[in-house]
Amino acid sequence: MRMRVAVGSILTECNQFGGSPINIQSFERQELRKGVDMLEVDTGVVGGTLQTFKENQVEVVPLLYASSCPGGPITTECYLQLKDELIGRLKDAMPIDGVLLPLHGASVVEDLGDPEGDLIKSVRYVVGNQVPIVVTLDLHAHVTDEMIRFAQALIAWETYPHCDTFSTGTRGAKILLSIIAGEIQPTMAMAKVPVITSAVHGSTATDSPFSKVMNTAKKYESDNDVVSTSVFLVHPYIDQPDMGSGGLVITNNNMNKAINIANKLSEEYWSKRFELEPQVHTPQEAIQTGLKTSGGPILLVETADCCGGGASGDSIASLAALLEAEVTLPSLVPVVDPNVAEMCHKVGIGQEIRAEIGYQIDSRWGEPISIIGRVIYLSQGDFQYTGGIWDGSIGKMGPSAVIALGSIQVLVTTYATYDWANEQFRSVGLDTSAAKFIVVKNPMNYQFAYGDIAKSIFILDTPGPTPATCRYLKYERLQRPYFPADEYITNLSSTILTN
Ligand SMILES: [Zn+2]
Repeated sequence: MRMRVAVGSILTECNQFGGSPINIQSFERQELRKGVDMLEVDTGVVGGTLQTFKENQVEVVPLLYASSCPGGPITTECYLQLKDELIGRLKDAMPIDGVLLPLHGASVVEDLGDPEGDLIKSVRYVVGNQVPIVVTLDLHAHVTDEMIRFAQALIAWETYPHCDTFSTGTRGAKILLSIIAGEIQPTMAMAKVPVITSAVHGSTATDSPFSKVMNTAKKYESDNDVVSTSVFLVHPYIDQPDMGSGGLVITNNNMNKAINIANKLSEEYWSKRFELEPQVHTPQEAIQTGLKTSGGPILLVETADCCGGGASGDSIASLAALLEAEVTLPSLVPVVDPNVAEMCHKVGIGQEIRAEIGYQIDSRWGEPISIIGRVIYLSQGDFQYTGGIWDGSIGKMGPSAVIALGSIQVLVTTYATYDWANEQFRSVGLDTSAAKFIVVKNPMNYQFAYGDIAKSIFILDTPGPTPATCRYLKYERLQRPYFPADEYITNLSSTILTN
């Protein structure tokens, strides 16, 4: 009889320091496919799993694919709706031979700290102990005891920026098929150390400290007993007990080896902690230094307001500094501000606009400023991603406008969107190559858009829920000691989780 596997995915990342709650509309704006509707997906992690199953003549039972731009915690109502959909379809599909769950691993629900663990456990209760569950995760996941205990195998992306979602789907599917066929008996161990840093030095495309640990991990995969290795830089903007970064190793029926290798990876990770902390600048310093540099673009990396890390995107810290410095060279700034976007659409192209802009969604981080400018572009805000987790799919900024404030052009959008390259600027006709200053609001992916052309890059220290350093974040559930609040920890040993 043909093998039958179920595939279900809830994929988003949350922020417990800021951002807007993620609700069902957030998923509807990006991806919300139920049942057979899901089978059309041919990119990203879900696309990779589906293609692999198809190639192996496996019957897929499509459950749910829900993916949204990161934000604050998922509302309880939304999570329960998605979970009920996924679990309900799974119950109807029983019996099945295996389950593949492409998840993120760092989402939270208003009243639930580990929804991925909860979901894996709930799937386990439906399928019983004999049916394997394989889960793919973002390498920024917060790996918990529940995730490890209730799954046979967890594997993570190998790249950051995340270019390998499709191939991770393929790897996950192949591991699931090997387990079902009895070719491997996975034994899994995670070792983590309390290193909580932003992702600024987390690239796998450069010679970063994170890429060194990743390279070590991947070398172990040539060992015949090793099924998979993963390295995690924990998403630092959730606030949960036992957060940490390190290595996860799956071996074929050899738990000691899994623990040993995972431990080595977490020890190497700890040794790299100081290198993972970025140097930061004030916007004023960065602008003054940038003005003394010939040409551009100069990148002002306002990573504290990263929509891809769950922030609202409504900070105007860099914009205010550019205005204060009376910059007269072309500069580009993105700001999420639904009120101002609506006002622009009301007054129309070519008209003057006077508005209060900034911090209108998440007022914890600053005060709005008054601007007088001219509306020079209006759009309904759709753009197409050219790579990454949503390659080819449509991103929705909602009603959007470009306001000219002298030489500074501000892209004002209704909704926060995840940055891949510079699709948002391009979609409204803004020329990034001609800009002196470009404000980017992500810690990493700006490298795709500007890596080759940027004259200088400044990582900024600005207020927001996704800061470049986590040294000053006020965690309540995460207990000390952790780096960077505690730079040296005596008698530190890695926390080991096993299945
Ligand atoms: Zn990630």
